[in-house]
Amino acid sequence: QTTRVPLADLSPAELEVFLDRQRAAYQSLLDRGLRLDLTRGKPSEAQLDLADRLLTLPTTRTDADGVDVRNYGGLAGIRQIREIFGELLQVAPEQVVAGGNSSLTMMHDCLTQLLLHGAPGSPRPWVREERVRFVCPVPGYDRHFAMLAHHGIEMVTVPMREDGPDAGVVAALVRDDPSVKGMWIVPTYANPVGAVCSQEVAAALASMPAAAPDFRIFWDNAYAFHHLTEQEAKSADILTLAAVAGHPDRPLVFASTSKITYAGAGVAFLAASADNVAWYLSHQQFASIGPDKVNQLRHAEFFGSAQGVREHMAGHRAILAPKFAAVQAALSAELDGLGVATWTKPTGGYFVSVDVLDGTASRVVALAKAAGIVLTPAGAAFPHGHDPHDRNIRLAPSFPVLDDVQTAMTGVATCIALAAAEHLQA
Ligand code: PLP
Repeated sequence: QTTRVPLADLSPAELEVFLDRQRAAYQSLLDRGLRLDLTRGKPSEAQLDLADRLLTLPTTRTDADGVDVRNYGGLAGIRQIREIFGELLQVAPEQVVAGGNSSLTMMHDCLTQLLLHGAPGSPRPWVREERVRFVCPVPGYDRHFAMLAHHGIEMVTVPMREDGPDAGVVAALVRDDPSVKGMWIVPTYANPVGAVCSQEVAAALASMPAAAPDFRIFWDNAYAFHHLTEQEAKSADILTLAAVAGHPDRPLVFASTSKITYAGAGVAFLAASADNVAWYLSHQQFASIGPDKVNQLRHAEFFGSAQGVREHMAGHRAILAPKFAAVQAALSAELDGLGVATWTKPTGGYFVSVDVLDGTASRVVALAKAAGIVLTPAGAAFPHGHDPHDRNIRLAPSFPVLDDVQTAMTGVATCIALAAAEHLQA
């Protein structure tokens, strides 16, 4: 039975006893020879199965406008799917582009277009600026940061809070420095902390004065509909907020069906002002003769309506919610009262974010790896993979089956307690 006195309050002798017990628990973990992978937020096979009717669709070769979807053309995507996701994203279909299978690609397209050409109103292409900086809420999504690093864009971190990024800190960074050209935000059930950006924070971001005339918010709503409870968070309508505040072109909204239907074969969306949509397509026309409209049509048939998407998401919730409950149960059972970790209790999305004792996250990940439990590398949720406090670990429980989530999380908790005890003893 684990002691429930905070580890930091134990006497050296008591800590030694605790450490011995944790070492024994860890040895039994090693003896189990586990092989579990909790590195990435991938849908499980059972979730992918929910969408298998897609493999029998579409039932027709033409979209609602009579266009043969098998042929070239229609750069902005077919109207039916733009209507469905326009309704879900609270925007007119004309302001939605339905693209290929990856919203990350659309984000990258927007970024490279800004770098190479700028946007209407840019003093010059971003690549010709002396420096380009982005505001990055942390912990955040590793691929966002990697994309910026790849293109030589500097990252300025701001703390992520329960209601979104600290808007006061963001506003101060953006107000006077024209090199701050953009920011990332995952507004709903953020990767990895699960935070939901409040109406107030969204309004502040939409209206704050920006020194760069072409400042852009990359509003990545990847988890907009991915609720884990019946209390479904509603995303702030950033496009309307920005338009009302006189900055209609500030937000670029992204979403996809990667975690709704198939993660490798879904449909991605960009929603933005009419001018931004025209800007995007004016460059995209040189990269594509049109998206995969067959896939778009089968998705439109599969969902039928925006309500169809909402109902489909309930199937995901039924599979995911028990896994997230298992994470909470395992961490609580092993760690409550020890004062060595805090963790998020997300009501949606794909991750649980754990803060362990400062200076021990890398050790926890290494211990887990040696025991056959592969976690996302420590620091992954920070620019350049560097967590200044070495305390944050992202847990991704979606992919393994429930039993494996339970086993892995109990193992991770053992590693957290062991690393903490080692650290306190040193
Ligand atoms: N944005 C966020 C915040 C994500 O967590 C992910 C996937 O994990 C993506 C985007 C990837 O989206 P897509 O599959 O549409 O490229």
